[in-house]
Amino acid sequence: MESGCGEMHAAFCGAPGALGMPGSLKWAVSGRDGAGVRARTGLVCGGARQEVRVRCRGAARSAVMSAAGVEADVEEREKVDKRAARREIMGSERFNRRGYKTTKEEVEGMMNLEFTSGLIQELRDQAYIVQKGDLTIKLAKAYGFCWGVERAVAIAYEARQQFPTQTLWLTNEVIHNPIVNRRLAEMGVRFVPQEGLTKDLTVVDDGDVVILPAFGATLEEMQYLNSRGVQIVDTTCPWVSKVWNALDKHQRMEATSIIHGKWKHEETVATASFADKFLIVLNMDEANYVADYILNGGDKQEFFSKFHEKAMSAGFDPDRDLQAIGIANQTTMLKGETEEIGKLFEKTMMKKYGVAEITQRFVAFNTICDATQERQDAMYDLIKEDMDLLLVIGGFNSSNTSHLQEIAEHANLTSYWVNEPNCIGPDNRILFRNSAGEEFVKEGFLPKGKVTIGVTSGASTPDKVVEDVLERVFMIHKLSA
Ligand code: SF4
Repeated sequence: MESGCGEMHAAFCGAPGALGMPGSLKWAVSGRDGAGVRARTGLVCGGARQEVRVRCRGAARSAVMSAAGVEADVEEREKVDKRAARREIMGSERFNRRGYKTTKEEVEGMMNLEFTSGLIQELRDQAYIVQKGDLTIKLAKAYGFCWGVERAVAIAYEARQQFPTQTLWLTNEVIHNPIVNRRLAEMGVRFVPQEGLTKDLTVVDDGDVVILPAFGATLEEMQYLNSRGVQIVDTTCPWVSKVWNALDKHQRMEATSIIHGKWKHEETVATASFADKFLIVLNMDEANYVADYILNGGDKQEFFSKFHEKAMSAGFDPDRDLQAIGIANQTTMLKGETEEIGKLFEKTMMKKYGVAEITQRFVAFNTICDATQERQDAMYDLIKEDMDLLLVIGGFNSSNTSHLQEIAEHANLTSYWVNEPNCIGPDNRILFRNSAGEEFVKEGFLPKGKVTIGVTSGASTPDKVVEDVLERVFMIHKLSA
């Protein structure tokens, strides 16, 4: 990473919106262990946390059961309880996931003002191509703000209007866009402190309002907040909830959820928290390794060294836990790769256990969201066009944007991934990332004379940001003419 780039991003990434990756909660580290002991001994009932209260019902019954029976009963109950606990929290009158009608109209006006763009409208009106002097801009046919992101931002704004005097917290960036998160910070929304992988929810006080981001929150976070009795405003995208529902089905057939995703990504962290048994695979290489292990067995220690401990559920045993599997995914992964991984495991399970057993051994649902698919498909169309370079615009921690950049790289096109207008300097210098997350600076990135630029933006990027980036490009081109 070059220093100029680092300096520039420090200016933005120091903002409350750039909070890094999520992880375990401080309370949860001790709470989970403690709860586990209590559940096994059956000695403690009536704890403040819902997790404990639910387990206590099992403990009461255990008095008439054998020790082995108790253990099995508690394990079984814990499996069901994840689903039940989520539903109970979501059914609480202090849990809102639809926004606030009374503030909707006002928020709609604010969002139009802040996020829409005349230039992007012009591009849409002119079949996604505009020409300004020697510069031609070709916009992908599907780009930018998706429905789920727009909905999440609207609900967060509505919550601010609805609770003007209360302290509002976000458990993470509401979406992966620095400008949107900065805007929320300006509105007085605070971000829960996070150090490395540890989040500190103890900052939340009685009477506060806590907003859960578009990619969801973990079950432990939800349980803690629920136990605190605070108002929860849930902006989780329904597409993400759809994956969680798929996980419920895996659990019903006692299958391990193989999640195609990035184990550090907030969405995948949340998703994994709703699974009883899970293994997170990043790509085809990792999937092939697991498939081979299923078919031929292998060295367990090598298996554990290959996957990060957070990419597996606690106590995961590849010899025991890969006998029935369900496929799930981070909603923003490359669609083709998720499909390929699903097919690979379906074939593997058929080969290992025979066709007759496949319905008990394997399950997959289509849980890649439409918005991700559409943006990726439009990108594949865009890269067929003649152009000199591509600009991919979106937050640097946005997974779906990284995949758009990846498509350009696989096609060997000159492509720059930028997260905001300041990435482009008046001296024809661009600060950008590649899909692997490496940062670079390129001097003189914009050629002189006739230039055609392909443009796309990630699902969490407002049109206004795209316009502001392009305005800089127009200015540089004019200056260098
Ligand atoms: S990209 Fe898909 S899953 Fe993510 S917020 Fe948008 S619609 Fe929802």
